[in-house]
Amino acid sequence: MKCERYRFDGSKPCDLRKLPCDSKADRVEKAEILTRTESNLKEMASLHDALYAEGREGVIFVLQALDAAGKDSTVKHVMGGLNPQGVVVHSFKQPTSEELQHDFLWRVNKALPPRGSVAIFNRSYYEDVLVVQLHDLQKSYQMARRVLEEDKKKFFRKRYRQIRDYEEYLYDNSYRVVKIFLHLSKEEQKKRFLERIEKPSKNWKFSAADLRERALFDKYQDLYQEVINETASEYSPWYVLPADQKWYTRYLVSEIVVKTLKSCHPAYPRLSEEAQAALAQCKKQLKDD
Ligand code: ATP
Ligand code: MG
Repeated sequence: MKCERYRFDGSKPCDLRKLPCDSKADRVEKAEILTRTESNLKEMASLHDALYAEGREGVIFVLQALDAAGKDSTVKHVMGGLNPQGVVVHSFKQPTSEELQHDFLWRVNKALPPRGSVAIFNRSYYEDVLVVQLHDLQKSYQMARRVLEEDKKKFFRKRYRQIRDYEEYLYDNSYRVVKIFLHLSKEEQKKRFLERIEKPSKNWKFSAADLRERALFDKYQDLYQEVINETASEYSPWYVLPADQKWYTRYLVSEIVVKTLKSCHPAYPRLSEEAQAALAQCKKQLKDD
């Protein structure tokens, strides 16, 4: 599987600047990739069907990226392979004042899917160690002085630990959390922003604030790398995917979804002998009707 190369589970360090933003290194052919994506979407559908019927394990795909990396279009595409009944998409925006009155995982817990379902998090609690850390937002939060007066490094090191612990807690409670970072190059981001400005149908996707964040592109890269290395684990890995070519990103995501669902070994529930006998009785009754 191509996605293996981009998987980080804590056993090797992730060096973002050495990882590709496009498909060149994988020497793939677009036409073949598109065909394989289609077949992955079909496989995904049948795996998801069994997962839903069985209802034993919940799966969460966390999508993180800088603006214009293709989070929305990835969500749209993956949804095409899943049964709408067993999937929820949750976009984590700037916290509301009610959310800010609680710990940072409060709103995440509320967004957890029931077991058997898949949740796609468009951004997530990782924003609480990314945008919050980069802009020092925690300083303006209403929290106890003992917390706010703590050394900044220590504060976020604790959050990394809390995230690791939370993901392990979820794993031990029959959830799988798989994190995907869409690795976009600075040049491609510029291209996509220009398109959002030039194409009226894409204007709504652009905001001037996006340029302010773009100015921090390199700082975000460094911070993402730190966050990925701090929170990659065997039970909750990160995938750092090339994001400059959407067709290739979608393919890799489809591989990851198939692989993750397979690892849950979903199987349709088998009826007990008693229930099977009752079913046979119903069949007979219907036939004699
Ligand atoms: P698009 O790529 O289409 O612009 P988006 O995910 O950027 O989608 P927006 O509504 O533009 O959606 O932005 C959501 C904003 O909310 C992001 O800038 C993100 O950093 C911010 N955000 C999310 N979670 C938090 C958080 N916990 N604290 C502060 N800001 C957050
Ligand atoms: Mg945005």
